[in-house]
Amino acid sequence: MALLQISEPGQSVAPHQRRLAAGIDLGTTNSLVATVRSGSAVTLPDGEGRHLLPSVVRFGGDAVIVGAEAKAAAVDDPLNTVASAKRLIGRGLDDIERLGNRLPYQFVRTDTAVPRIRTRRGDVSPVEVSAEILKALAARAESVLGGELSGVVVTVPAYFDEAQRQATKDAARLAGLKIFRLLNEPTAAAVAYGLDKNADGVHAIYDLGGGTFDISILRLRRGVFEVLATSGDSALGGDDLDRAVARWIMARVGVEDNASHRLLRRLLRDACAAKEALSTADRVPLHLELPNGVRWEGELDRATFDALVDPLIAKTLVACRRCLRDAGLRPDAVQDVVMVGGSTRVPRIRERVEELFGTPPLVEIDPDRVVAIGAALQADVLAGNKGGDEVLLLDVIPLSLGLETMGGLVEKIIPRNTTIPVARAQEFTTFKDGQTAMVIHVLQGERELVADCRSLVRFELREIPPMMAGAARILVSFEVDADGLLSVTAREQSSGVKAQVEVKPSYGLTDAEIESMLRDATARAGEDLQARRLHEQQVEAERTLAALRAALASDGDALLDATERGLVEDALSKLERIAAGGDAEAIRIAVGDLEKACDFYVERRMNRSIRAAVAGHKVEEFE
Ligand code: ADP
Ligand code: MG
Repeated sequence: MALLQISEPGQSVAPHQRRLAAGIDLGTTNSLVATVRSGSAVTLPDGEGRHLLPSVVRFGGDAVIVGAEAKAAAVDDPLNTVASAKRLIGRGLDDIERLGNRLPYQFVRTDTAVPRIRTRRGDVSPVEVSAEILKALAARAESVLGGELSGVVVTVPAYFDEAQRQATKDAARLAGLKIFRLLNEPTAAAVAYGLDKNADGVHAIYDLGGGTFDISILRLRRGVFEVLATSGDSALGGDDLDRAVARWIMARVGVEDNASHRLLRRLLRDACAAKEALSTADRVPLHLELPNGVRWEGELDRATFDALVDPLIAKTLVACRRCLRDAGLRPDAVQDVVMVGGSTRVPRIRERVEELFGTPPLVEIDPDRVVAIGAALQADVLAGNKGGDEVLLLDVIPLSLGLETMGGLVEKIIPRNTTIPVARAQEFTTFKDGQTAMVIHVLQGERELVADCRSLVRFELREIPPMMAGAARILVSFEVDADGLLSVTAREQSSGVKAQVEVKPSYGLTDAEIESMLRDATARAGEDLQARRLHEQQVEAERTLAALRAALASDGDALLDATERGLVEDALSKLERIAAGGDAEAIRIAVGDLEKACDFYVERRMNRSIRAAVAGHKVEEFE
């Protein structure tokens, strides 16, 4: 089978070397990391045996904390604890405001399009929050595997747009990770079940997580997954099941809607625990301690729970039907339904999904882990660990495809990273009166000028009826099939005259060439990576230096003795010296060194400011 590209640029390795790679499911509620070990993909636990890492980051006084500890702190420190960054990533402040004011954070408008969240440790962007989660997972993988990761595959929802995808990639870069590629979550789930090895067919991926519902319909055709349609509800998930149960308990107990926040939080936690227990038990006991000291004992059984959550399940089924309609399919056209997300453990959900699609859903792989597992399988292939026999069909085109237009310019018809198969068309016209032929020159590359792109093929459209300049309508269509084969058709619309050629877009183009073309394009766009990295590090150094100088001026004398001050000042001038040079990596290290050298000073300042803040308040105010 003809391939567009067998491995990612720069990723070919000698077959005997095994390279460490991981798949990361960067979720709204929980994230996971998985890797292939002894031939099978497994998720990796942290030191305490926990596989799921809550996607919560706390910007604490002393450190940045990620996961369960951060989640536990969210109740008491909501402003500095960022959850659900995935809902914000790659979005502008206006989009975020449209999400509603359910978010407790203080957003800061910046001169770039990216909004930031004000925290105790400075303003952070959703990209930085996600980077912390990725860093934590990569560190976990590296410590379990005992080596550095050569790269990762990170999953994103199928509906993520270019900006959200780019922001996710930026987060990985910020975390110091090489990203082999982003993978659509539903595709990852399908890969985990090996559906890519099956015969061609249509599959549905039903993903009900903590706060979101996604349904995707994929078509597998000659080894490539094509997203036919996606639908869902970004405000429907396990949390809503918790609320339904909590409301039921409140009605029994006689607690009003306006109960204290503390009681409501407690109730929601109990409701969630009861819901999860009911996925395996028929009934669960409930105990509740009310603020007035009264204890309430009750029980929730499966049938009651099912009735409570049925309206929510019905909403997901409406979205499934909509998605099927968009894909132009009937439910029985779907061969397999893959269950993804912790909430699909609810037996009632499985039943109702089976009713709709007329087939029992696939549930053998842990629905929390299935996306990470699929991502790990892809990462393993992309790291080059599979040798030559298992080639991976990349489902995107690596370089843009376009046409030569007047003045030696290239008009892009299909931008790079577009998933294949794909077809795009554009209309062109003649520029001379009576022109009867036209040269179609097909090019590949990211640059603006024909001279800087790779010429793929030239062909002619003849017998165009003579017309005034600009009157002919010539439709040029590009079609890339699942094999990566491009065919270009040019057709004059009024006469129907037509010419067609087939080309292999990446024939003869090596990985190194692809890489250098990409590099050229970005360099020309003023994005020279090296220069940018140096600039970023210099800005970072300057920020650190300025903060430290200001601190020393305000309380250096009060908080430091002469020796300590000498140490801090030495570190400061060392960074000043290195920052003036041109070595980005040295600057990064020096910033880290300076921060370490000043740890004790930062802590002292923090303690002092906390003392100052609590002075004059009663301890009760801080419970
Ligand atoms: P996300 O994709 O949003 O990060 P997850 O797929 O991790 O979320 O799903 C989290 C949700 O799954 C939570 O609402 C959690 O209560 C729910 N969940 C986890 N285990 C169970 C279970 N055994 N029964 C029902 N719901 C569960
Ligand atoms: Mg998920």
